[in-house]
Amino acid sequence: MKHVCAKCDLEIGYGKPVIQMLRGSWNGAITPSFPQSFSEWHGECFSEFKLNPQVFPYRCESCGDEIQLGQTVSFFVEGNGTDEYSITAECRGEKLYTVNHYPCCP
Ligand SMILES: [Zn+2]
Ligand SMILES: [Zn+2]
Repeated sequence: MKHVCAKCDLEIGYGKPVIQMLRGSWNGAITPSFPQSFSEWHGECFSEFKLNPQVFPYRCESCGDEIQLGQTVSFFVEGNGTDEYSITAECRGEKLYTVNHYPCCP
């Protein structure tokens, strides 16, 4: 899968700053497992959403509850663009942004 910016429609090059909106199942690691991409943007193109950084334990911004093992969440990561064979950005650090239950709160 090529990485294309949702704002300017240009490719997001390897190693370039990227912000991704993903969903995945949270299994206790920093980044949820089996991520699927909703959208991604060049770092400098991104302005659609407000990003609230969170570190573990994660809380849903909608209902305020702690995210439980196995729950599916939507979230953002900030990192460096990866190659077309990977989904999730590299060098993400230990933060997720704007975590919410997906598709809705339990
Ligand atoms: Zn862009
Ligand atoms: Zn929730």
